Amino acid sequence: MPTTRKICSPYPPPHAAHPPAASTRSSDQAATDERVDNIRILPLARGGGGPVRAAVERMKLWDNGRTLRVKFIDGLPEVQAKVQAIAREWEAIANLKLKFVTTGAAEIRISFAEKGFSWSTVGTDALTVAATEATMNYGWLEPSTSLREYQRVVRHEFGHALGMIHEHQNPAAQGQIPWDKEKVYAHYAQQGWTREDVDFNIFQVYTEDSTNHTAFDPASIMEYAIPDSLTVGSYAVGWNTDFSPADIEFMRKQYPMASAGTVELAVGGPRTSADLATAGEVDTYHFDVPAAATHIMTTEGPSDTVLTLHGPNDSGAVLAWDDDRGQGLNARIVRKLQPGSYWLSVRHKNAQATGTYTVGVKKSR
Ligand SMILES: [Zn+2]
Repeated sequence: MPTTRKICSPYPPPHAAHPPAASTRSSDQAATDERVDNIRILPLARGGGGPVRAAVERMKLWDNGRTLRVKFIDGLPEVQAKVQAIAREWEAIANLKLKFVTTGAAEIRISFAEKGFSWSTVGTDALTVAATEATMNYGWLEPSTSLREYQRVVRHEFGHALGMIHEHQNPAAQGQIPWDKEKVYAHYAQQGWTREDVDFNIFQVYTEDSTNHTAFDPASIMEYAIPDSLTVGSYAVGWNTDFSPADIEFMRKQYPMASAGTVELAVGGPRTSADLATAGEVDTYHFDVPAAATHIMTTEGPSDTVLTLHGPNDSGAVLAWDDDRGQGLNARIVRKLQPGSYWLSVRHKNAQATGTYTVGVKKSR
C-alpha cells in the first residue's frame, strides 16, 4: 500500500485530495521505531517452483500504553471541545491516553482549515508528517452540526489515527461488496477524485499479512456508507455512527489494557515466574541501572515469547527487542545500559496464544 497518504472524506470532496507535506522520516522507520510488531517478516514462499519471495509488511500501531499528545492547530473552541470529548471515548477501548495540549509538540495535530474534507493519517504515519502540518482535518464540523455527525466523523477519524483502515478495505471484505466499479468511478469523478483516488480509497483491499483484522463488519465505524446506486443488485450500507461490537473487541486486542501493573525486577536477583493468561496480554517489568554496565535480559520456559527493552527513563521508547536468541523459542537481549530507569515487556509471539515463562535480568561478568 502507499504509505503516508492520508485517507478518508466520507463526504463529497470539492477537489482532489493531496497528501500532507512529509518530514524526512520514513513511515516504515516511524512504525518500527514505535512498536516492534509493526514489522512482520513472513516466511519464504514454499513450493510451486516459482521464484522464492520474502515479503515484509508493515502495520502502523502505536506502542501499547503510550500517551499521544493532541493539539488543535486552528478552529473554534466550541468545536474543539466537542471533538475532544468524543475522541476521548477511544481511551476506554484502547490502552492509549490522549493528552490535549495547547503548546509544544504533539503527535496528532488537528485542523479545520481544509473545507469539505475530513481525513487522518493512519497510526504512526502521523510521525512522518512535517511538524507544522496537520495530521487530521475536519472539513465540515461547525457549532451547529448535529451531535450524531460529530460522533460519526470523530470516532472514525480517530480510528484512523489509532491505526484502523477502512472496513471496506479489510482483507476479509474482498469480494463481499458487489461494487459497480464504473458507476463508482463516475460518482467520485464528479467530486474531483481520479480513478487512482478511487482505487486507493475504495477498491484496494489490504493484504492479509499487512493487517490484523476480523471478518468483514458492515457495522464498523470504519465503514463508509455504500449507496445502493453504486452496487450491482440490491446492496447498501448506511452511515454508521457507533462503534460496532467488533470494533471494540478488535481494538482492545490491538491495544490491550495492562494485565497486572508493572512488576519490579531485581538485577541479578531470582527470576520472576509469570503467566500470559489471556490472548494479547503484555506483561511489564521495571528495573533500575545505577551505573553503566552490560546487561543480559532473558525469558525462559515453554512459551514463544517476545521481549522488548524500553528506556532509558521513557517507558514508551523502544531500545531493543528479541524473539528467539535465547534457549529454545526464548528471547535474549544483551546490551550496555547507561544509568537510568528501564522497562521490559513480554508478550507471546502468537497474539492468540497463552503460556507461562520466567523473566530475568543480570549484569554480564
Ligand atoms: Zn476514513
